[in-house]
Amino acid sequence: MIYVTRPKLPPIEEYKKMIDEIWESRQLTNMGPMHKRFSEELKRYLRTEDIELFTNGHMALELTLQAFKLKGEVITTPFTFASTAHAIVRNGLTPVFADIKEDDYTLDPASIEAHITEKTAAIVPVHVYGNLADVEAIEKIAKKHNLKVIYDAAHAFGVTYKGKGVANFGDASIFSFHATKLYHSVEGGAASFKDKKIGERLYNLKNFGIQGPEIVEAVGANAKMHEFSAAMGILNLKYVEEEIEARRIITEKYEEILSNIQGLRVRSKQEGVVANYAYFPIFIDEDEFGVSRDIVAEELLKHNVAARKYFYPLTSSFDAYAGKFNPNDTPVALKLSKQVLALPLYGDLPLNDVERIATIVRRCKK
Ligand SMILES: *Cc1c(COP(=O)(O)O)cnc(C)c1O
Repeated sequence: MIYVTRPKLPPIEEYKKMIDEIWESRQLTNMGPMHKRFSEELKRYLRTEDIELFTNGHMALELTLQAFKLKGEVITTPFTFASTAHAIVRNGLTPVFADIKEDDYTLDPASIEAHITEKTAAIVPVHVYGNLADVEAIEKIAKKHNLKVIYDAAHAFGVTYKGKGVANFGDASIFSFHATKLYHSVEGGAASFKDKKIGERLYNLKNFGIQGPEIVEAVGANAKMHEFSAAMGILNLKYVEEEIEARRIITEKYEEILSNIQGLRVRSKQEGVVANYAYFPIFIDEDEFGVSRDIVAEELLKHNVAARKYFYPLTSSFDAYAGKFNPNDTPVALKLSKQVLALPLYGDLPLNDVERIATIVRRCKK
């Protein structure tokens, strides 16, 4: 069976060496030497000044929203992973779903503006599939209406725009280092932020508010990254450029076979953006292609290829939110969620498998 992704693993001998170091330091967690080193190396790679590490991407997002002490409504996209809306709701905030753009699937600035009320406190855009949200337009809107912008950059590790690292846009950005992501630390996450005060709050929120043996200055949770994750993160950072390059070659192979087919759209390219090739989504328009996305997914499964409907259903259609939102309010997102299929993509996916998968998809056309 070929799955949609497979975690990248560094050579085991290198990880064993890191574990030896952990054994020697005898510090397994609580911001030990690996945590410190990982934090420094990440800042360099992400070209940003400040980050805080977390146990996973979700807690990075949930606690970052908490650190801004927001009240009221938060405008976001329904075309994303469950975490984005959940983090908003779990902070006692109300998500307001704006629609996305047909061409790059990120929040449509015009739709963001149309959803602003006197209760709006923040915007949480998602750099979906590593596509950059319209950071320039969003910054203008945020300034005009005095809103915070917290980017869910879980998909956008390593992406740069006009030479600037993706971690530097908005008031904060969060990253996920989950095993299924382009780059991982088994589980893990990070938040980058502009304001030092937010950094202090994030540290307290991830470590019980403990500032010293006898000083507890805030009511924090526990969302620290441990040393074994930090060690994996440090090692994988050595190989991330190699992984991105391998994915670029696979992406080009898919594009070679799947471009110029009526009713089938491949992932979009963005001007000025250095992509990370995190995902390879295709969009199938049933009327023009002749068969539905679901039929293509079934056909792939018959050939032991488990493509995934990322992102379907929309978060606004989750059972958990039954009766609260109307998915028809975001027609573009609704349409794309019914068309999308993410094809398998990971660095060591053999090119002959890529060809085979793409050919199965192409042959589905009626
Ligand atoms: C993976 C993901 C998250 C959550 O990250 P975890 O590390 O799995 O907690 C949040 N947002 C998006 C868009 C994601 O894909």
